[in-house]
Amino acid sequence: MSLLVVGSTAFDAIETPFGKIEKVLGGSAPFICLAAAKFTKPVRLVSVVGADFPESDLAMLADGGVDLAGLQKIADGKTMFWSGKYHTDMNSRDTLVTELNVLADFDPTIPESYNDTDYLMLGNLSPTVQRQVLERLPKRPKLVVMDTMNFWMSHTPAELAVTLKLIDVLCINDSEARELSGEYSLRKAARKIMEMGPKTLIIKKGEHGALLFQGEQLFFAPALLLEDVFDPTGAGDTFAGGFAGYLAATDDISFENMKRAIIYGSALASFSVEEFGPQRLHRLTEEELNSRVQTFVDLVQYQVPVS
Ligand code: AMP
Repeated sequence: MSLLVVGSTAFDAIETPFGKIEKVLGGSAPFICLAAAKFTKPVRLVSVVGADFPESDLAMLADGGVDLAGLQKIADGKTMFWSGKYHTDMNSRDTLVTELNVLADFDPTIPESYNDTDYLMLGNLSPTVQRQVLERLPKRPKLVVMDTMNFWMSHTPAELAVTLKLIDVLCINDSEARELSGEYSLRKAARKIMEMGPKTLIIKKGEHGALLFQGEQLFFAPALLLEDVFDPTGAGDTFAGGFAGYLAATDDISFENMKRAIIYGSALASFSVEEFGPQRLHRLTEEELNSRVQTFVDLVQYQVPVS
């Protein structure tokens, strides 16, 4: 089934305890698309870049299975720039700079070839643009998954509330869930957030895995215990892209299949953190992915007799 992704495309400057890079391809869209394309190709993209965006990155995305018909290039604009610095534990980071640039006035256009989109992934960017993409499609997709972040919770809370009412699955991290709901308990937070619109909620807990909520149903998947985490940037987007891509490829939106999608999303995210930028995802082979999914299965499989 077809999958459309909307998200930011950016240049990132990143500092982690293990290294520093001044400029690398980032934004939610490249990570989501390259992850989702491991399951379904081509992945349709709606995003925006400036005149400074290099052909080599376009070529890499196209080679990775991304349909670039909906990527706008603004001739007199600059690509979004984001900069972040990770704390020693790598679970938290400070955003140093967010320059939205061409993303600030982004008016998304949906190419006609995207009209029959079945699955929609609203990657992290302005909730207004997320809503516009959904509303500009001639028919509502079968499933709408959305990611967002604290930036939009504090900058555009009213717009975020409107978009939340229109979606099916929300994917955020634990601190964002607490901020959005005003609750510390993730159980209570999940209940409150599901009342805001999405019937299904995923709460990512970084190196501690992810929780899936749907009504009173709950599932937990741990994260793999990795030898090295070099740069966590984009891990959440990679996870969401893997989740949405797997659902689109299998065309099954049952709770059971969402559990499998979470395992695939987690396995993909574990590769994404090995290097700066989305290059590792681009190079990732099917064999490498399957072998890591197997490691996952082995990690969580246990039989405990309950009398
Ligand atoms: P993640 O680590 O999954 O939260 O994603 C990090 C990516 O999100 C980086 O590559 C940034 O370029 C991008 N990003 C950071 N802030 C924003 C924002 N306000 N809107 C859209 N994308 C952003």
